[in-house]
Amino acid sequence: MRKLLFSLLFLPWFALAAVDYQISITEPDQHLADVTIRFEVGSPGPFELRLPAWRSGKYQILDLANGVRRFEAKGVDGAVLPVQKTEKSSWQLQVSKSGPVEVRYQVYANELNQRTRHIDDTHAYINASAFLMYSEAQRKEPVTLQLKVPQGWRSTSGMTRTGAHSFKAADYDVLADSPVESGFHQSFTFAADGRSYEVVFWGEGNYDAPALVKDLQKLVQQAGSIWQGYPYQHYLFIVHASTGARGATEHLNSTVIQRDRFSFRKREHRLEFLSTAAHELVHTWNVKAYRPSGLVPYNYIEPNYSDLLWISEGSTSYFQNQLLLRAGLMTADEFYADIAKRLKRFTHTPGREVQSVAQSSFDNWISQGGDHADNFSVNIYSEGYLVSWLLDSWLLQHSGLKANYRTLHNELYQRFGKTTAFSAADVRQIAQDLTGQSLEAFWQQQVESPLQLDATALLAQVGLELVKPKTTEPFSGLMLKQDKAGAEVLKVERNSPAWQADLSSGDLIVAVNGLQLQSEFSERLKDFAPGSSVRLTLFRDGRLLERQLTPAAEPAGVWTVKPLKAPSRQQQAAYQAWLGTEFPAAK
Ligand SMILES: [Zn+2]
Repeated sequence: MRKLLFSLLFLPWFALAAVDYQISITEPDQHLADVTIRFEVGSPGPFELRLPAWRSGKYQILDLANGVRRFEAKGVDGAVLPVQKTEKSSWQLQVSKSGPVEVRYQVYANELNQRTRHIDDTHAYINASAFLMYSEAQRKEPVTLQLKVPQGWRSTSGMTRTGAHSFKAADYDVLADSPVESGFHQSFTFAADGRSYEVVFWGEGNYDAPALVKDLQKLVQQAGSIWQGYPYQHYLFIVHASTGARGATEHLNSTVIQRDRFSFRKREHRLEFLSTAAHELVHTWNVKAYRPSGLVPYNYIEPNYSDLLWISEGSTSYFQNQLLLRAGLMTADEFYADIAKRLKRFTHTPGREVQSVAQSSFDNWISQGGDHADNFSVNIYSEGYLVSWLLDSWLLQHSGLKANYRTLHNELYQRFGKTTAFSAADVRQIAQDLTGQSLEAFWQQQVESPLQLDATALLAQVGLELVKPKTTEPFSGLMLKQDKAGAEVLKVERNSPAWQADLSSGDLIVAVNGLQLQSEFSERLKDFAPGSSVRLTLFRDGRLLERQLTPAAEPAGVWTVKPLKAPSRQQQAAYQAWLGTEFPAAK
């Protein structure tokens, strides 16, 4: 005991010192910020600073150090310290005396769509991973952040506020997962279930802010339908309305949602916005409160491999519309329409035969999309959605409708919400605890191998059916971008008629059966019967070529999912257990 007391009393004095960060937005039109950091360094010698190579939520190396300019460091007596770059994201200082070290550099912040750093004359979006360096040795120290911003700007973040433009956090990990939005905003607050919420809008657009805030208020109250308990007291929605923007990112107790400034008004747009907001809210539990062990703690420099990203993303997608449905923000028909769209897309993703969701999760760090992605791989979102649904179905079936996938996620939160990290074995254990049966065979077949989907059976379990249009239209398997010059091939679906006809991405189709292509290619194709031979004239890398296409027949138009007219009692009970809402009355 005495020994312990002694070591507590003589802890190095710097161990309790905070790391102080300051960001000055001095030249917003040039997208530049000046960063100053004050570290306390306990002993002379090399001292390493790093800027993350990626940011949480985007499982790809972004090399954020590429935005750093004019790095310099000064020691306790104001003397300039020697600096050497030791790795693309690492700076090593030679510290001559213990005490405070001040580091300064400039950051170029002109990137909005990856949600890392963006500064202009109206705002600054600051994800600390893209701005602020850390010392691995002091990563667990408390931090403070102070902003110097142009007049009239307002600053907000999920971090604890200490002033109009200053915040504090328990450590660098919290700082890096609590983006700051500063600028000209519309801001709203509300309370729900004993928690406070803020919604800030940056950018003009055709949104009705008070109405969206009302919808978000309904949405957040549905969290209790999945989890018992909350990982936050305060939650912040940051909305960016900007030309051409899209996407969103989850953070510890906040999210940033980006939309094109004119894609809010129509109902479908509003639903897309709410669906995204629901997705990000679900993440506050799924991937923030409990996270695959490969991502705990975050390694900010290297890829963080995990076979479970399909749970982090796909299961989040799986829950998002369920919350909207329960909140009354989405109708059952709209909910079914989304499912039908997903099932149709699945049949046109040949990569489903090649890659499992586990492999897709592991390789997410190198998944670049592109023209061949859907042919040979699957994505963790859409494929992860389907595996989540299959697992839900398995749980319902093997528990006699007593447990479902929401139960499993609540268990993940209860068991791992404090320690964060869970493994694949933990998921299988929970499933076994809930049903008394082993999930091993399911896991091998549906998670570690390309999944086997029997959509008819999956829908029938809960009294639904898939309806495809009876009329057919010619199908080529081409994805095109068309202008006056012709139809440029963006993608060719593997084994489709276009694939068999040796068409390739990059081809520019200029004529069909010897006549210049002037209408939409898909419209022109309807002039031919499925099975007939169509001569395409195209440019490939400047060479004029011909190809013979034999279109197949495909159901014309959208697929739909509908409730059965006469569902059994069992099907109705399964539906209720699946979604937590009653089977819809016959229309
Ligand atoms: Zn997500």
